[in-house]
Amino acid sequence: MTERFTGSFTQQEPIPEAGIAAALAVLQSGRLHRYNLAPGEIGETALLEEEFAAFTGARYCLAVASGGYAMATALRAVGVGPGDRVLSNAFTLAPVPGAIASVGAQPVFVGVTEDLTIDLRDLAAKADEADVLLLSHMRGHICDMDRLMEVCGDAGIRVIEDCAHTMGASWRGVASGRHGAIGCYSCQTYKHVNSGEGGLLVTDDADLAARAIMLSGSYMLYDRHRAAPPPEAFERIKYHTPNISGRMDNLRAAILRPQLADLAKQVDRWNARYRALEDGLRGTPGLTLIPRPDAESFVGSSFQFLLLDWTGDSVTEVLDRCERRGVELKWFGAPEPLAFTSRYDSWRYADAPAMPESDRILAGILDMRVPLTFSLQDCALIARIIRAEVGTVYQAGAVRSA
Ligand SMILES: *Cc1c(COP(=O)(O)O)cnc(C)c1O
Repeated sequence: MTERFTGSFTQQEPIPEAGIAAALAVLQSGRLHRYNLAPGEIGETALLEEEFAAFTGARYCLAVASGGYAMATALRAVGVGPGDRVLSNAFTLAPVPGAIASVGAQPVFVGVTEDLTIDLRDLAAKADEADVLLLSHMRGHICDMDRLMEVCGDAGIRVIEDCAHTMGASWRGVASGRHGAIGCYSCQTYKHVNSGEGGLLVTDDADLAARAIMLSGSYMLYDRHRAAPPPEAFERIKYHTPNISGRMDNLRAAILRPQLADLAKQVDRWNARYRALEDGLRGTPGLTLIPRPDAESFVGSSFQFLLLDWTGDSVTEVLDRCERRGVELKWFGAPEPLAFTSRYDSWRYADAPAMPESDRILAGILDMRVPLTFSLQDCALIARIIRAEVGTVYQAGAVRSA
């Protein structure tokens, strides 16, 4: 009998009861806007910022409307403007180059390695082309951050981290988002906490924090923040920083706070699922697993593997065969962007020279989401299906001749 998987790759868990109760209380109060507070009240948004700052070990935190908005705000706060160039990953998702384009700047793409992290040799080679790097920890794979910070430090490059897939992860014990000048996170439904839309930004730099808070649309109400720098930091910039509204509201913050409190437990559950997939796929001929370095503590909320040097037709055949058995894989190498997958050359507003070494890797990346609604048995079943279908196609001769 041929096994089939019948679960949904896009079904998340419900919002925890405590989040639903807190959200109802906000709705009953009518005070959804973060600065709309009863006398003596501390709003949910300010509390979320305080708790997220503590969670990451950052001095300052700002909650905003989306992860993309957090990145654009970070770029503005460090002074990126029209015509500037910003280094970023060739392997990432559309909101990352989109954030760069939103401030009128141009992305300069840096290659990807077989470990699915930024190519540090390519970064060093391009280091004189820009003075800001928007580093995407794409799909939760963290590069050697010690080496990256050394390369950027030597070249005078400021680092902004896109931690959409690394909330709760760390490198050598330092939370992801805490190596660079600013860390940006997403609270969108498919990330590690779910308020539909939402974002967070952390930094230890008082000037950057004050600018980000003003940019997000705080009017002159910055004293209602708790994870913010002292008033002097605002005095210096308040007449020169435009209001580009993108605040978070109390309803979303109320939903997020109990999820943040649960995150460590959720990370363990994600990683158990990730390991079940990895165990089930290990040793599959033609399939390359992505190594996870000891220094990296990750969140296995999605799973990638490589079908390296396979022909496009053979990859497509694996996708089709898996799909017929209920397993939805996404292919980053597809010539046309589909759903959330896209290649750097599909962002045509950016002038991107060809990157043959990265193209070879992108052409082999297969990806799937791992929602927590999957059981460990589901993950073992998904791995058996992929293993069987990759095996069948591989045996028929899937690899491109050199
Ligand atoms: C989701 C995502 C973002 C941005 O998140 P939004 O909240 O959807 O704007 C940024 N980077 C990556 C890699 C993402 O997957």
